[in-house]
Amino acid sequence: HISSLSRYKSQPTRTRDGKTITLLANAELPEDITTISNAGAQGIGLYRTEFLYMNRLAPPEEEEQLAAYRDVVEGMNNQPVTIRTFDLGADKTVDGGRHLTQTVVTNPALGLRAIRLCLTQPAMFRTQLRAILRASAYGKIKIMFPMISTMHELLQARNLLEQCKLELDKEGMEYDRQVEIGAMIEIPASAVCAEMFARHVDFLSIGTNDLIQYTLAIDRIDDTVNYLYDPLHPAVLRLIHMTLEAGRKFNVPVSMCGEMAGDPRYTRLLLAMGLEHFSMHPNALLEIKQIINETDLSLLPANTLSIMEVSDALEADMLLEQINAPII
Ligand code: PEP
Ligand code: MG
Repeated sequence: HISSLSRYKSQPTRTRDGKTITLLANAELPEDITTISNAGAQGIGLYRTEFLYMNRLAPPEEEEQLAAYRDVVEGMNNQPVTIRTFDLGADKTVDGGRHLTQTVVTNPALGLRAIRLCLTQPAMFRTQLRAILRASAYGKIKIMFPMISTMHELLQARNLLEQCKLELDKEGMEYDRQVEIGAMIEIPASAVCAEMFARHVDFLSIGTNDLIQYTLAIDRIDDTVNYLYDPLHPAVLRLIHMTLEAGRKFNVPVSMCGEMAGDPRYTRLLLAMGLEHFSMHPNALLEIKQIINETDLSLLPANTLSIMEVSDALEADMLLEQINAPII
C-alpha cells in the first residue's frame, strides 16, 4: 500500500480535470520536518509552536525561537512555512502553567487561550513575533493567528506586529517586509463573519478541530461526547462553505489545517466545495494526493453540495458514499 502510494510523491497534485491543489503538512515538533520533506509536501501549512513553551519554567527567549524557526524554513528548502503564534491554554496546557498567570477555570476551551492569551501577554507575544520576523529573512514565512473571534483581536495582533517591525528596522535587523499574515477560522462566529476578516488578511485557514468542537458544543478531549463529533453535521459544512465563499469573494486563499483536511473520506467533498489548499499530518499526504489525482470534479454527483442540507446522518453517509464512489 505504502509503496504503491510512493509513486505519487513526485507527481503534481492535480485533479483529472486539471485543477491544481496545494498539499501542505502540519508540524508539531522539530523532528517532523524529516517526515514532511520525505512525504513531498509543498510547504508547511501549520507549524505549531506550543512545543517551545511546554515543560519548562520560563518562556523561550527570542534567540532560541529564532533558531527553531530558522531551522524549519531552511530545512524546508525555501518552501513556505506558516508559523502559528502560540496556541496555549485549553487542551495545550503549559506544564503547571508556571510562567503564565493561569487560574483554574471551569471551561478552559472557552477561556484564555490562543490569541486571547497572546494579547494578554504582550511581552511574550512580541518576543515570538520578533523571532518569527527575524526568521523570515531566511526563507518564506507566513504568520498565522489562532482562534481569532473579533476584528479587534486581529487589529491588535497586526498592530503589535507592526511595532515589532519598527523595532527591528531601528536595530537594523533583516526581515521579509512582505510577510503574509493570516487568521485561523475555528470559531463559528468567525466563519459566519469570514468576509469581515478576509478584508484584512492575506489568507485564512480553517481549523476544523476547534470549529467542530465549538459549533457542536462538544469538548474535543472529552471521550464521553466523542460520538457527537461529526464533520458532516450540516452546520459544520455550511460554516466551511461560508468561509470558502468569503475567500473567493475577496480573492483571499483559504486553507484547511484541521484533521478533516487529512481524512480521505472528506477529500472529494472538500474539493467540490472549492478547497484548494489542504494542510495535514504528513502521514496522510500521499493518500490524499492519490484521491485528488484520481478525482474528476466534473464527474461528481450533481447533488454533491446538497449534503449541506441533509439533516439525517445516515442519509449524509449515503450521499458521501456516492461522492466517493470510484470514477471509471
Ligand atoms: C484546529 O483547531 O483544527 C487546528 C488545526 O488547531 P489545533 O488542533 O492545534 O487546535
Ligand atoms: Mg485549533
